[in-house]
Amino acid sequence: MSQGFNTRAVHAGQEPDGTTGAVVVPLYQTSTFAQDGIGVLRNGYEYGRGTNPTRDSLQTQLAALEGAGHAFSFASGLAAEDALIRAALAPRDHIVLGNDVYGGTYRLINKVLSGWGISNSAVDMSDQDAVRAAVAAGGPEGKTRMIWVETPSNPMMKITDIAALAQIARDAGAVLVVDNTFASPYLQNPLALGADVVVHSTTKYIGGHSDASGGAVVLNDTELAEKIGFVQFAVGAVSAPMEAWLTTRGLKTLGVRMDRHCENAQHIAEWLLTRPEVERVLYPGLPDHPGHELAARQMRKFGGMISVQLTGGEAAARSVAEATRVFTLAESLGGVESLMNYPAEMTHASVKGTALAVPENLIRLSVGIEDLEDLLADLAQALDGI
Ligand SMILES: *Cc1c(COP(=O)(O)O)cnc(C)c1O
Repeated sequence: MSQGFNTRAVHAGQEPDGTTGAVVVPLYQTSTFAQDGIGVLRNGYEYGRGTNPTRDSLQTQLAALEGAGHAFSFASGLAAEDALIRAALAPRDHIVLGNDVYGGTYRLINKVLSGWGISNSAVDMSDQDAVRAAVAAGGPEGKTRMIWVETPSNPMMKITDIAALAQIARDAGAVLVVDNTFASPYLQNPLALGADVVVHSTTKYIGGHSDASGGAVVLNDTELAEKIGFVQFAVGAVSAPMEAWLTTRGLKTLGVRMDRHCENAQHIAEWLLTRPEVERVLYPGLPDHPGHELAARQMRKFGGMISVQLTGGEAAARSVAEATRVFTLAESLGGVESLMNYPAEMTHASVKGTALAVPENLIRLSVGIEDLEDLLADLAQALDGI
């Protein structure tokens, strides 16, 4: 990791094409590769589900940006998570996960992988005693083999101490997985803090333009990496060439985009505090956020995501969510355009009625890279209209 982040983002895995000198790695939109004799491959390329040069370039870029030895890219964040869990665990193993993980992650583990014999318990990851107790308790049939955390978490923006969790995981012989989607590798590198595996929904900040779905698993452990590579090939939830190409294109500008996301978000969070319609602003860049000091230690900046609780309850939250015009009402996050989300009915509808349910007066903003004045004016008119 001798070069700076932005240099790696632009150049890692992006050598000019060997045949033509094309400066940008081409979109190898092909499902198979000609053989020069039976089993005589050119540069190892055989079949698209196995390997593709466009996907390889993205995987090299992702590994370089997390400071890792291995990266695997998938068709979605959840496909990446599924492959990781199937590769790392076996039936009867137990996962301890944050009680505010992404709703789709909880659904995957609790509704799909439970049928494969994986049990789970959800705890407050910022409470280290609770984590230790849940890890020690294990599952009904087996030991805790994995700890899963998101920091900052979605949508409550809780910050968890990655290095402390890594110690708990090491003591228990479990694998610590950090979902680094919200921070992106520009703001936080969990492997350097002691985590074993990083997962990303590259659909979000890494792709950055809301035009490609994808996911990634990034790690150093070669033995586990081989297992993940096998599941990736054997199951085939790989990123398609076009998606990989778009994601690489987006990832090159992650640093410059993220600087702007963070700058806009900090201003908006401070401005929201001045509004009487606002009960609470959840943004780690605010000094009174409970995770502020920890975030300042383990992240480079505070990110582009803000959650807001409104004094007017559910009705006010719904009203604001539907009234913005520059902020588009949509699921997802991390794109150049600002997005508005009402988690209780949108991104977190899958955890409604469970312990992971989110407050009904909460809206979540993914702050884009537009001009700050336009974003503030848009939020002001939406709040005025409650
Ligand atoms: C979106 C998201 C996922 C799932 O990724 P997909 O690409 O939608 O499958 C996982 N974790 C977090 C934090 C997310 O925001």
